[in-house]
Order: sequence, then structure tokens, then C-alpha cells
Amino acid sequence: MTVPRSGRVVIVGTGIAGASAARTLRKDGFAGSIVLVGDDPSIPYRRPMVSKELLSGSAVAAKAHLEPITFWAEQSIELRVGATVAAVDTASARVEFDDGDSLSYETLILATGGRPRRLDPILADAHTLRHLHDVTALRAAFERVTSTGATPSVLIVGGGLVGMEAAAAARTMGADVTVLEMGERVLERVLPEPICASYERLHRDRGVAVHTGVRLSRVDAQGARTRAVAVDGREWLADVVIVAVGMTPDTELAENAGLLVDDGIVVDEFCATSAVGVYAAGDVARFPNRILGGTERVEHWNHAQAHGAAAARAVLGASAPYEEVPWCWTNQFGRNLQIAGWPGLGTELIVRGDLDAGPFLALSLADDRLVGVIGVGRPRDVRAAQALIANGPYLPRDALDGDDPNLVALAAEPARFAAVARE
Ligand SMILES: Cc1cc2nc3c(=O)[nH]c(=O)nc-3n(C[C@H](O)[C@H](O)[C@H](O)COP(=O)(O)OP(=O)(O)OC[C@H]3O[C@@H](n4cnc5c(N)ncnc54)[C@H](O)[C@@H]3O)c2cc1C
Repeated sequence: MTVPRSGRVVIVGTGIAGASAARTLRKDGFAGSIVLVGDDPSIPYRRPMVSKELLSGSAVAAKAHLEPITFWAEQSIELRVGATVAAVDTASARVEFDDGDSLSYETLILATGGRPRRLDPILADAHTLRHLHDVTALRAAFERVTSTGATPSVLIVGGGLVGMEAAAAARTMGADVTVLEMGERVLERVLPEPICASYERLHRDRGVAVHTGVRLSRVDAQGARTRAVAVDGREWLADVVIVAVGMTPDTELAENAGLLVDDGIVVDEFCATSAVGVYAAGDVARFPNRILGGTERVEHWNHAQAHGAAAARAVLGASAPYEEVPWCWTNQFGRNLQIAGWPGLGTELIVRGDLDAGPFLALSLADDRLVGVIGVGRPRDVRAAQALIANGPYLPRDALDGDDPNLVALAAEPARFAAVARE
């Protein structure tokens, strides 16, 4: 690998993909200039804590920082926070800031992540949860109510991962919490039906009101409170409304610069975009899925971290393509669930253990091929599943049909899979 010794790499986005790219460039020997730019006013932080520890108040913002504040200067990484890149000119290899400043680059890495999707026009002004400052605003809104001696009522629109985590955090703080989900089940985009049902029970048991099949028609102010009205006439009144209906990849810069964009900035297996010298990584990038075929965009912390590092290595000339099996987690009411692979693609689900009391392991298969694993209290098995999904797609059924499949042991026996694959 030939490591360029000089030149400037500009990285747009101080989320984990951008931060990871910057750290990896230095760690792997890049001696040139690294400028890490982000419009977020904070130094890089752990975004998953926003809807968990930070919202519930069990951790303060400083605990979420990815690195101590001194780290970036010590690594000779120029960190520019609160700086918005307004345009990229690939012809002259420059980025232009919204304050009129500009900067040339030899290499550009776009790690611009995504923005919370809004429900325009009815909930355009509601709280969303992505940044540290969103937590500050939400906690201030809670405190405005608690300071009067009242219990805050919180309405969460969207029963996906962020919405359900926010529900758990707000309930833990003592708020009255209601979740409105448009689909038939909460978490249905990420989890199979029996596990969604178990999460719905978990929330209901802890006092969260969960309503599914809700389509909102109108939201209006009722004094200091907000009233939400569904098309079927149901109504809810709340002090605080949080909209958590997913995110849209922040592709604006790339699109305006003429890069190929298709629900994400399109990159190859080396994170290279359609423009020479420009890479993209993390939530914003659509990349080839080398394990199952096609392309995908993944919105998980570990992926964004690994993808940012892969972009940095590609800049430095690495020849290994990116082919990670996605892995993520969610934490709600102290229950830590982990997901590996693509459980949504499965047509068969094998569940071992107790979905409500845990621990459990759920294996998702499509035509006998393991495509996803979900677990509570089984972190080593879920980790091992990544290797099984990547390297040994053909699982012998007898290995799975027992009472307690041991994925760690299975992953250590690749020969068994090869034999099945040959049959
Ligand atoms: C509330 C919440 C909880 C989550 N919890 C989990 C979890 O438990 N487990 C898990 O696996 N994943 C979780 N995720 C997902 C995970 O956090 C993301 O996948 C990951 O942070 C994405 O990182 P990224 O660097 O690609 O993008 P981002 O974190 O979105 O960072 C992109 C940055 O670029 C900035 N930017 C965009 N455009 C510009 C511009 N023009 N100029 C300057 N800066 C710009 C953005 O403001 C942002 O700061 C969670 C996400 C959220 C929102």
C-alpha cells in the first residue's frame, strides 16, 4: 500500500463516519493535512446516546464525546465545528463554506449522514432527535412543565427504533408517554413480528400507551399544548411532540456537485463516488452489498464507523473491498437487543428462548440461508452470526433445530458449511 505523504483531505461531517475516516488516516500513516468539518456545533459525539442516556438524563453530554477535546489537535486533525459546507466544486477541487470561505482539497470524503424526516406541513415544527442540541431543547421543554409541578405528557410520532428508544427514555424520566405508529406494529421495519409484539408488550407493561395504525390528519395548538387528530377522529393532547419517522440521507452537496445519487451517494466497494478524488461513507452512502448482491444504504453506528475507516484506507490505496455484515443494537428499558445481518429478508424465523423474559436468539432464514440473527442476552452468538452470514450461508438444519443453537461453535466449523454448500 502506498501511503500518500502530503496533500489535503477534507472530510465533511463530524459524525462517526467522518471522525473514523480522520482517525484512520492518521493511524495508517497519512502525514498530510486533514480538515474535519461539520455544521454541528459540538465536537464529535456518540449519536446513539441521544435517544437513550442523554435524553433520559442518565449521562451528560461530555460522556458522549467520542474523544477528549484535546485529541483532535494532538493528532494534527484540524477540526472545524459549526462550519457548513455550502458547495463542492469538483472541477477546481474546492469546498465552499456558507460564510464565503473556501478550501482546496486533494481528496474529499463526504460523510454528511442524514436529516430527520419531517411530517410537513402538520408537524414541521415538532421536536426531532438526532443532535445533542435536540436533547437540550427537549429537556428544556420537559422542565418547563415539571417546574409547574405537572407531569409532562409526551407524544411520539413514529414507532421505529429512535421513537421507541425516546419513549423508553421519556417514560424513565416519569413522563406520560404515547406512541403513535402508522403501521400495524411498532419496529416493523427492523424486526420480525413476534419480536415487535414483545417490544409492544414491554412498553405497555411500563406504562407507555402504544397506538398502531394511526394516520394523523391535523395537529394544532391548544394553549401551551398540542393536539393531534387522526383521520379516524381519535385525538391526543400533549405538552411535547417528538417526530421520529426516519431520516433522509443528506445528499444535497453531492447532488449539486453532479455526483451520482440514488437514495444516497452512490459509491463502489472502495467508497469512491462517481467523481475522481471524492469518496463517501456512512449513513449517506449507497454501496454494493457484496454478500447478498445489489446495493444498500445502512443506518447503523458500527457500519458508519467501519465505512468511514474503509474510505480512509481506500484513499491510502488499500485493495480490500468493503464487505461488512451490518450489526446494530437498541436499548429500551434496560433490554439490550442486537441485530446482525438482514433479518427483514428472511421467510422463516426460528426462535429459541423467551422473547419477553430473555435471553433469546432468533434466526432469520431465506431458503435455508441464514440472513439475520437477533438476540437479547446472547451478544457472542450475534457477533458470531456476522461471520456465519458472510462466510457460511448454507447452515445444516440439524445445527439450528436444537434447543439452543450455539452460533459461536458453528462459526468455528466452516468445513460443515462448505460440505452443505457442495451437496
Ligand atoms: C437518536 C439516534 C439513536 C441511534 N441509536 C443507534 C443505536 O443504538 N445503534 C446503532 O447501531 N445505530 C444507532 N443510530 C444510528 C447511528 O447513530 C448512525 O448510523 C450514525 O451516527 C451515522 O453516522 P454518520 O457519520 O454516517 O452520519 P451522521 O451521524 O448523521 O453525521 C453526519 C454529520 O454531517 C453533518 N453535515 C451534513 N451536511 C453538512 C454540510 N453541508 N456541512 C457541514 N456538515 C454537514 C451533519 O450535521 C452531521 O453532523 C442512532 C441514530 C440516531 C439519530
